[in-house]
Amino acid sequence: MMARRPLIAGNWKMNGLKADGEALAKALAAKLKASPPAVDMLVCPPATLVDRVAQAVAGSALAVGGQDCHAEKSGAHTGDVAAVMLKDLGASHVIVGHSERRADHGETSADVRAKAAAAHAAGLVAIICLGETEAERDGGRTLAVVESQFAESLPEGASPDNTVIAYEPVWAIGTGRTPTLAEVAEVHRTIRDLAAKALGKDAAGRLRILYGGSMKPSNAKELLALEDVDGGLIGGASLKVEDFWAIAQSA
Ligand code: PGA
Repeated sequence: MMARRPLIAGNWKMNGLKADGEALAKALAAKLKASPPAVDMLVCPPATLVDRVAQAVAGSALAVGGQDCHAEKSGAHTGDVAAVMLKDLGASHVIVGHSERRADHGETSADVRAKAAAAHAAGLVAIICLGETEAERDGGRTLAVVESQFAESLPEGASPDNTVIAYEPVWAIGTGRTPTLAEVAEVHRTIRDLAAKALGKDAAGRLRILYGGSMKPSNAKELLALEDVDGGLIGGASLKVEDFWAIAQSA
């Protein structure tokens, strides 16, 4: 089996002002420096804090990413942020297609694919999120939903070097509920198989597939031990240094 270095990514969502965001990032960077874990670590603060956080952790192993980007490089898109702007601030990654964006902003997989392509063009790694709603899971449609979201959200030119997939069951996000380990394993294996068809077996073997949705210190170890789980996308628990660090330690 090909070795994939886990990625532990924090999605701060719409949380943090200048002082607490900077303090959180600095505390993590200091921990990374003192005892580097065998994982890559990333924080995705709100767009307002990307600059400050990137400056605060410059020179450390902590990577910084955005939570969304526009598909265009510039133009008449009030309130939006271009991938190249995030890159300009020192970001290396950007989340695209998070279910909160799909739900709150009506983003389709076609939109997500365009955003991921923009991220790639700007030199950012795109973390493409997908996952089923509770009704879709209850209706037995989980794998079909994941399959179509994967097919429709992955842009031309995607590779394990510029793309990470995050499987996030919508009903597990922020709820404290998670699928069973067998259910997580099944979806991740399916995504790996889909990647093999889309990108080739070799690339699929190098692609990182994260799990997200109520990952916390108490369940991280067993989730991260699954063969096709290559890290986590962590919301709530990434806002506490100790919790986020504990998750990284368990990978
Ligand atoms: P959660 O969020 O860890 O708070 O469930 C995960 C996410 O939405 O990325």
